[in-house]
Amino acid sequence: MNSRKMTQEKTNVIIFGGEIVGSLLALILAENGMRVVLIEKKSLEDLSSDYYDGRSYALNAGTKNLLSFLDIWDEIREKVQTVSKVLLQQGLETSRPQPLELKLSNYDIGTSSIFHMVEDRFLKNVILKKIKKSTNITHLTSKIVKSQRVKGSLIEITLNDGFILKSEIAIGADGFPSRSATRAKVRSSGWNYNQSSIVGVVRHENNHENQAIQFFLPAGPLAILPLTGNRSCYVWTMDTKEAKLLNKLDGEQFLEKLTEVFNNFRGKLTLDTPKSIFPLSLAMARSLVKERFALVGDSAHNIHPIAGQGLNLGIRDVACLSEVLILASRNGEDIGGAVVLDRYSKWRHSDILALSLFTDVTNKIFSNDNAILQISRGLAFNLINRSPIIKKYLMKEASGSIGDVPKLLEGKEI
Ligand SMILES: Cc1cc2nc3c(=O)[nH]c(=O)nc-3n(C[C@H](O)[C@H](O)[C@H](O)COP(=O)(O)OP(=O)(O)OC[C@H]3O[C@@H](n4cnc5c(N)ncnc54)[C@H](O)[C@@H]3O)c2cc1C
Repeated sequence: MNSRKMTQEKTNVIIFGGEIVGSLLALILAENGMRVVLIEKKSLEDLSSDYYDGRSYALNAGTKNLLSFLDIWDEIREKVQTVSKVLLQQGLETSRPQPLELKLSNYDIGTSSIFHMVEDRFLKNVILKKIKKSTNITHLTSKIVKSQRVKGSLIEITLNDGFILKSEIAIGADGFPSRSATRAKVRSSGWNYNQSSIVGVVRHENNHENQAIQFFLPAGPLAILPLTGNRSCYVWTMDTKEAKLLNKLDGEQFLEKLTEVFNNFRGKLTLDTPKSIFPLSLAMARSLVKERFALVGDSAHNIHPIAGQGLNLGIRDVACLSEVLILASRNGEDIGGAVVLDRYSKWRHSDILALSLFTDVTNKIFSNDNAILQISRGLAFNLINRSPIIKKYLMKEASGSIGDVPKLLEGKEI
């Protein structure tokens, strides 16, 4: 279907934003018989470009189940790195990791892995190929939405090129800050962390032995996350001023600083990708739904990357919203109606709030040199190290498998 033809047609769902979250939602709804228009402001060339900024994701068990169900996991399997050990170490004012540490392993939770790492480029490319193949998805790229307004039982969208589209519901998956949320008059709460993360990939001399490391340094955490081959993704968080200065360094100068902070944990390092910088803030939409409108992913919640959970949280939104919409459609309900959208909002509210606050508090507790907090952190690490029950609970929580779990996160059909 081309966009001109669409002006005469009504579709079921319009999604703003075609990165991982918006695209997965489109695929699930389309596979369940809904007609979806996926609108993305980037060009198709940009979306399918080979350029890699080094971003990688820690995917939890629920996300893996959803990707397996969509036959995406099998296609990325060879590019996926299993993580079976996690080492958390706190740092002091010397910026050196200190002996106080917490060790988690897959044996603690009785599974073959704790989480999996995948590079953004591999996951995106497989999803994009699936979008192209789907006959129920109209993929509009290089498009910007000018306006959205509710007209009776439909929502009407006007694109920058003048086309008008109508659907039963529109969904904002346009990231942070979300234009579609602003258009729907959804306000958000949050604050700027005045921290930024520098992200990239390094090759190292020594094998990572499937271990992920997080050093809690005074200015912010440094995560070293294993990738396939002798490579790791680093997420190095610090004050934005400092990060901007570091980001200006050339490859060699930057590598010197990075080697210092890696503390020889992986032997000699070489840079495998350019570095990218991401400013960090917390933002939570005050409402996940409005009239014929819902939010998913970073457009609903932008959280600190300290726990590597932002995308997993967005994928939980996708699993819940698709389940609500598909069941409503099967029951002959109005999928954009307030009763249906309220189910989604109620289902997601507490998980989003809990994880947003957890990441916020963890960052505040660990990203500083306060002596009392250092002692408390040490005590907490000791307590968790000795308690298999707490370890198991923490791991279950991080895998998104606590509470009312949507079917797709258990790998089951809706
Ligand atoms: C340093 C860092 C490390 C991270 N590590 C992890 C991790 O290990 N694990 C994890 O789970 N999460 C991680 N995250 C979080 C994760 O990157 C995000 O949560 C996730 O990428 C959000 O995906 P999204 O599709 O919701 O939004 P985005 O990826 O921001 O996509 C939004 C899309 O909408 C498009 N768009 C924007 N405006 C418009 C418009 N007006 N019209 C049409 N399209 C529009 C954009 O072009 C974009 O393609 C990390 C984040 C950071 C910053």
